[in-house]
Amino acid sequence: DLVQTLAELDKKHFLHPTSPIKQQQEQGPAFIFTEGKGVHLYDVMGKSVIDGMSSLWNVNVGHGREEIGKVAMEQMSKLAFTSCFATFSNEPAIRLASKLSQIAPGDLSATFFTSGGSESNDTAYKLARHYWILKGQAGRKKIISRTKSYHGVAMGATSATGLKPFRDFTNSLAPDFCYVENFSAQSLREVIEAEGPETVAAFIAEPVQGAGGVHVAPKDYFKKIRNICDEYGILFITDEVITGFGRTGKYFGIEHYGVAPDMMCFAKGVTSGYAQLGGVMLSERIHQELIEFSEGTLLHGYTYSGHPMACAVALKNLEIIERENLIENAEIMGQEMLKGFKWLQSNRKIVGEVRGLGLMGGIEIVKEQKFSTPIAPLIVSEAAKRGLICRSVTFDGQDTLVFAPPLTISKTEIDQMIDILHDSILAFE
Ligand code: PLP
Repeated sequence: DLVQTLAELDKKHFLHPTSPIKQQQEQGPAFIFTEGKGVHLYDVMGKSVIDGMSSLWNVNVGHGREEIGKVAMEQMSKLAFTSCFATFSNEPAIRLASKLSQIAPGDLSATFFTSGGSESNDTAYKLARHYWILKGQAGRKKIISRTKSYHGVAMGATSATGLKPFRDFTNSLAPDFCYVENFSAQSLREVIEAEGPETVAAFIAEPVQGAGGVHVAPKDYFKKIRNICDEYGILFITDEVITGFGRTGKYFGIEHYGVAPDMMCFAKGVTSGYAQLGGVMLSERIHQELIEFSEGTLLHGYTYSGHPMACAVALKNLEIIERENLIENAEIMGQEMLKGFKWLQSNRKIVGEVRGLGLMGGIEIVKEQKFSTPIAPLIVSEAAKRGLICRSVTFDGQDTLVFAPPLTISKTEIDQMIDILHDSILAFE
């Protein structure tokens, strides 16, 4: 039948991203999705599941938005693609860059467009280094990032990623990356001093670490970071690829910390996954200095930088986020989700620390002596059977469940998530 045919073709021809290769070969695809509506996904068998991860932390406005599809079709029919290289431009890209300057933190005011988060990160490192070359300080090339950070899989992004398994996947990394201890401003100072401030271009951090297990920084952490960066003249880059566009209950995650970065990477939620788009924003000052000192050509650009259809989709997506007050909903439902986690904590003994900010949440599993392997992946598969998609994080000895449902989620749907989780933990126990 159809399912069997698709599964065989999948196993034979489709090398999946971030996949357990052997298991994929043995078992084939767990779900072959065909449709989505709101927080729900439906597969080829007609099974319905709650998308507790917004797929990859990105479908912020939920699935099945016909008005976004309509905008995409209209833009594609009118002008599907044109170059933004050199002095060519297009209206959706101009309007989106302008819109982003209105909603971004601090004085971030100019946007370089990419097609995703990894490209945005590599772009940020190159632009930061180029900035220092223009300023006559070409020695400033090191990029400092944090343990448990995730910045993507392009060469620079992989090299900046603090989670070691991602770096160990390959045997040669980009030079001039170094790492500091998570949430320790003192560690940043020590690394800058040890490396020499005149060799450091930028420090990059996710306002809330996502792939590393949903780790929320202490309240005063980013103020200290901002001060240290200013003291040594180092650029501060935030990676808002997950935390941007309402996910944490504010437009951008760094807003919780009362500081603004010099550069900001974004992707995912800018289109809620309805098209492939990312970008890097620069502060007014950095942008002006780039213009002032530049003599040649900005020799960095992707074919799809400023893609008209993707930008039109982003504009509609942001309109929906604002029209439906989804940022506020993320804050309120985030509190409900955390309440649910706390209820699980007091009812199931394997639930340890629970944490979150807005609609990013994490549940740590307390490992009992008799279990030598992580338990979270087992709970993830129990939950999938019962109609909830979530994810496990087992890096660095962690045993954690993570969640990031669409910002449209209702109280009833949160309750369903918690019920399924409870039953899944019970089944495991
Ligand atoms: N940065 C962060 C914080 C991410 O979470 C991700 C992806 O999950 C990326 C960058 C990479 O983005 P992409 O997968 O679009 O290349």
